[in-house]
Amino acid sequence: MIDESTRSRLKANWQAVQDEVSEAVDRYRRDPGSVSIIGVSKYVDVELTKALCDVGCSNLGESRPQSLWEKSAHFTDNGSVHWHMIGHLQRNKIRRTLPIAPLIHSVDSQRLLDAISEEAELQGRNVSVLLEVNISGDQAKTGLLRKELFEVMEQAPVAHVQIKGLMAMAGRGTDPIEAGKQFELVRQARDEIEQQFDHPLPELSMGMSGDFVQAITAGATMVRIGSRLFEGIVQR
Ligand SMILES: *Cc1c(COP(=O)(O)O)cnc(C)c1O
Repeated sequence: MIDESTRSRLKANWQAVQDEVSEAVDRYRRDPGSVSIIGVSKYVDVELTKALCDVGCSNLGESRPQSLWEKSAHFTDNGSVHWHMIGHLQRNKIRRTLPIAPLIHSVDSQRLLDAISEEAELQGRNVSVLLEVNISGDQAKTGLLRKELFEVMEQAPVAHVQIKGLMAMAGRGTDPIEAGKQFELVRQARDEIEQQFDHPLPELSMGMSGDFVQAITAGATMVRIGSRLFEGIVQR
C-alpha cells in the first residue's frame, strides 16, 4: 500500500515538473501543449507506477523491455496509458514488445529497424519509432552517429514502420549548458533531414530531469523525466 504522504509527495513532484515545463514552454515561445512529459517509471515498482498514473501522468517510459512487459501487463484495463520504450531494444525482444504498442524511442541501427519492420509485418501492426542519435560522437554513448542517421534516412521508408522523429541523450555528467548545445545540433540534424528527404520528423525526444529546460529551448516535444518525479520517495 502506498501511504498518503507518498501519494501527496508524488502529486507535488508531478505538479512541480508540469509547472516547470509550462514555464519553459512560455518563456521560449513554444506552442502551448507542444511538449509532453514522459514519466520514466524504471526506478519504481508497479504500485508507484500506477500512483504516478493516478496523479495525471499518462505517458510512461521504461528502459528495459522486460520491465515494460511486466509493468504494462498490470495496466490492461487502462487504455489511457501510452507506453514508451526508451532504452536499448535487443532484436530478440521485439516480438513481445510490439503488442504493447509503445513508441520505440531507441532505434539505433538499420538492423534493428529492419527487424522491427519484419516483426510488425508478421503481427499485422504499424509501429511508430524514433531514431536515437549520438550527436556528440562520443564512443561511450549509444545511438546512430550523424552519418549513420542520414544513411538510415536514405533507406527509408521502411514497411510497417513510421519514423516520427529523433531521440537523444546528453552524455552522463554533461552539464546542462553543454547538453543544450547538443540538443540544438539534434534539432538542426532533424531540420536538414526534413529538407533533404522530404520526410517530416515532428517529434524530438530529448531532455531528462537535469536538462529538460535546455531541451525545450532547443525544440524538444517529449521530455523523459524520472528521478525528479520520485524525489523524496523511498521504495520499500
Ligand atoms: C533513466 C532515463 C531517463 C530519466 O532520467 P532522469 O535523469 O532520472 O530523469 C530518461 N531517458 C532514458 C533513456 C533513461 O534511461
